[in-house]
Parts: sequence; structure tokens; C-alpha cells
Amino acid sequence: MSANEDIGALTGTGSTEHLDPGRKYGFPDPSNKVNWTCTFCKKVCKGGVYCLKQHLVGGFRNVTKCPTCLEHVREEVKVFMIKKAEAKNVSQMMPSVDDADEYDDVEELGT
Ligand SMILES: [Zn+2]
Repeated sequence: MSANEDIGALTGTGSTEHLDPGRKYGFPDPSNKVNWTCTFCKKVCKGGVYCLKQHLVGGFRNVTKCPTCLEHVREEVKVFMIKKAEAKNVSQMMPSVDDADEYDDVEELGT
């Protein structure tokens, strides 16, 4: 059926949310979408999918590191979070005038 193919094409493109690894390794509580359950240790992260990713990667002060998460999963989620942060910086396209001033101050203090 061509109609079904059209729907598949629409859902397959556009949204990038399904690429979020947090959605692969956790699932939201249907009654409360900020509660995400880790598929490895079944811990519930009550801060949304971002909190779940912090739980998987570990090293975040307010989030317990997942004790049973696989190492390659940890890497995958970490890389995704870094890429997302970089994409955010690029999309802002702000001239880094403030940064340049700060570096000048540091160099003057150092010499
Ligand atoms: Zn976990």
C-alpha cells in the first residue's frame, strides 16, 4: 500500500528524537514522562531522559552511575551528549568577544 509507505517515510525523517540513545536504553513512565526507567538496573530517573543519560554515563554529581550499564553503551551515550552540546554551541553562532577578553586577562596575569 502506497499510503502506508508515505506514513513510514514521514515518521522516518524529520524528527531526530528517536536517535537519542537515552530512548534505546530507557523508557518513560506512561503516566509520568519525567520518570525514565533504566533498562539495565531498572532504576527510575526522575529528571527526564537527560537524567537517564547522566545515570548511564556516570560522573555526574546528582545522579547515581548505573552499576550494570555496558561500557560501549556508556561511550555511545557520552559521545551523543558531547555532540549535542557542540551542536548547541554551533547553532548559537555567537561571536566569542567575551571569551577573547577573558583570555587577554589571563595572559596579562600570567606574564
Ligand atoms: Zn541503570
